[in-house]
Amino acid sequence: MNLIVALIFAAIILSGLLEIYLERRQIVAVAAHRERVPVAFAGQLSLEEHRRAADYTLARTRLGMAQKGFDTIIALLWLAFFLAPAYALVARFVVPGLSRSVALVLFMAAIGYVLDLPFTILRTFRLEAAFGFNRTTPGMFFRDQIKGIVLQFVLVLPLLYGFFTLQRGIPHLWWVLAWAALMAVMLAMIVIYPAFIAPLFNKFTPMAEGPLKAHIEALLVKCGFESKGLFVMDASKRSTHGNAYFTGFGKAKRIVFFDTLLQKHNEEEILSILAHELGHYKFGHVTLRIVESAALTFVAFAVLYWAFAGGLTQAFGLPDEPGLVLVIVLFAMGPVAHLLAPFTNFLSRRAEFQADGFAKSMLGGQPMISALTKLSRDNLATLTPDWLYALFYYSHPPIPERIAHLNSA
Ligand SMILES: [Zn+2]
Repeated sequence: MNLIVALIFAAIILSGLLEIYLERRQIVAVAAHRERVPVAFAGQLSLEEHRRAADYTLARTRLGMAQKGFDTIIALLWLAFFLAPAYALVARFVVPGLSRSVALVLFMAAIGYVLDLPFTILRTFRLEAAFGFNRTTPGMFFRDQIKGIVLQFVLVLPLLYGFFTLQRGIPHLWWVLAWAALMAVMLAMIVIYPAFIAPLFNKFTPMAEGPLKAHIEALLVKCGFESKGLFVMDASKRSTHGNAYFTGFGKAKRIVFFDTLLQKHNEEEILSILAHELGHYKFGHVTLRIVESAALTFVAFAVLYWAFAGGLTQAFGLPDEPGLVLVIVLFAMGPVAHLLAPFTNFLSRRAEFQADGFAKSMLGGQPMISALTKLSRDNLATLTPDWLYALFYYSHPPIPERIAHLNSA
């Protein structure tokens, strides 16, 4: 067997085993601490609430494990057996050239979507529903899926045509141009998404006048933050999970609160959550995120260039078709992205600590601690994760660590 083929198979198998091993550790750690509320939270969390958080984490982790096992086997089956017949099927209906390459990638994406759908349905209507989070009706779910598919088709189709046109037309430099074009689209999406796409799924209402809004505006002035408006999003129609976030660029920034967050928290807590978000803005975390993903994407395109230089599809015993090269590279990049997760999550957790620090400097630590305690209770976040699992997958530090950080000088 060709070395590169062996490497790709090994990477997919190792990535699958690693994730399942880490999920297994998380299950053991959470189950071991199920019967005792951590000392630091005694009095704020009942044993019943603590057990529910453990059960929710266990159920989610088990579903994640099943999905990873399934996805790993499917990826191996595609590469070993099914890419050739899939290509033959597409080739029967689409003439050779650009359109065939695009059609092959779309066909593979469509099958991937269908294979993933049972997990999405289980997650929404079994798991989330069992713990009282889900409010999505089957009709709403169906409409969301259709809108999502149409949107992705509209966005991805021109991107794929552009990609294969450059790849065929401009030797040597096509990958840099394709990367630059993708970055331009990503930046444009920062403006397009809140204005045109998010409103297709949710309603955004300007925040009602009143003491809360007045206090929020005072905090914005104190932090030197200019914004195009404060909005409340009707997140409660799908789920009871709460959140707040920023969108947009420059002066077009918007602050969005989930209605679920406003319902469950008092004013002090809402202000400290907002101050945390403002901290992300103050420290330039949004820009850092963009730079980080631009750098990683650049490397990915360099790999694509190398893969297109020849030989990859032949190594798999497949015809020399650009669509097949892209599909194989996408399968191979899954494990690579997986191994990069601890690195990107480390950067993200560091940013969360900084944002918490900013909230503390603005409003003191206590409201943020109270908000985090409530968030973990309402979202059934486990307080006792496995350290290695958290190191790998947590984009936010575990709540006990955040509270300890807020309590420290
Ligand atoms: Zn944050």
